[in-house]
Amino acid sequence: ESQTGRIIKALSGYYYVRPIDAASDEPTIQCRARGIFKKRGESPLVGDVVEFEETENGEGAVNSISTRSSELIRPPVANIDLAVLVFSVTEPTLNLQLLDKFLVHIEHAGIDALLCLSKQDLTEDGEETEEARQALSDVLRVYEPIGYEVLVTSSKQGEGTGALSERLKGHLAVFAGQSGVGKSSLLNALVPGLTLETNEISNRLGRGKHTTRHVELIDIGGGYVADTPGFSQLDFAELGIEELGSCFREMKELSSSCKFRGCTHLHEPDCAVRDALENGEIAPSRYSNYEIFMAEMKEKKRRY
Ligand code: GDP
Ligand code: ZN
Repeated sequence: ESQTGRIIKALSGYYYVRPIDAASDEPTIQCRARGIFKKRGESPLVGDVVEFEETENGEGAVNSISTRSSELIRPPVANIDLAVLVFSVTEPTLNLQLLDKFLVHIEHAGIDALLCLSKQDLTEDGEETEEARQALSDVLRVYEPIGYEVLVTSSKQGEGTGALSERLKGHLAVFAGQSGVGKSSLLNALVPGLTLETNEISNRLGRGKHTTRHVELIDIGGGYVADTPGFSQLDFAELGIEELGSCFREMKELSSSCKFRGCTHLHEPDCAVRDALENGEIAPSRYSNYEIFMAEMKEKKRRY
């Protein structure tokens, strides 16, 4: 008899499926994928909603995969609908270029983004307090006005972690951000009993950040989070140069007012984006990152 479930873990050719509606403490069903997938060159992914049936020895077989709403290549997870971009106010220094790069890919994939500014305690106390305060105010000033949600957290002091947990309910979320920004610490704070290795420990064990590992979904009670702190970047499908402008949401909104259709906002006359930049309505850092990504993409295209 066929049932619907969600793949929450994949390991050594097995898919661990939790029936939809099953409580988070119920055991998952260890399933094989039907041969038909291999023939079609498809394979189930963590995050997939599947039809499966129980076979002998309490095992199961995945019969079909529901259409995916999104597909991340690295880490390999399907149906993510919220990306939590973690950036710390300092240690490591806030990198707005990296933040904008993440946002470009997330906009392109049509996934919601939540900016999580971590280590808030360092704006109050620490050697880099001034830098941390500046970073906090930069992020709020640049990203909130263009409609991104920003949540300020401190795993150390438990600040904002309750709000983050509420925000994740009903979603399949992935955390992304540079190594050391506090992703593991946040996940540990969110999930009672979870003990992901934080940086100090993994260094002691000599496990670098390039360790390849499998992905597993963590049930956070009414939602899932992919346990991906080891992945410091997100890889989605390739982005075309002509698509870049539409991945900067404040520019996308203005582009219909540019004189030329398909305006690249770089050198065309009567460009609404460059006018807005001059009037201080677009953050210089955003525009400058747009130019940098544009140049990088052109360079890449030229070389291949
Ligand atoms: P990850 O690499 O993004 O998973 O980061 P970790 O969670 O491993 O944290 C990296 C370092 O930052 C560790 O030394 C943590 O103790 C520290 N850290 C994490 N969260 C906070 C925080 O809220 N405040 C402060 N001051 N340090 C933190
Ligand atoms: Zn333009």
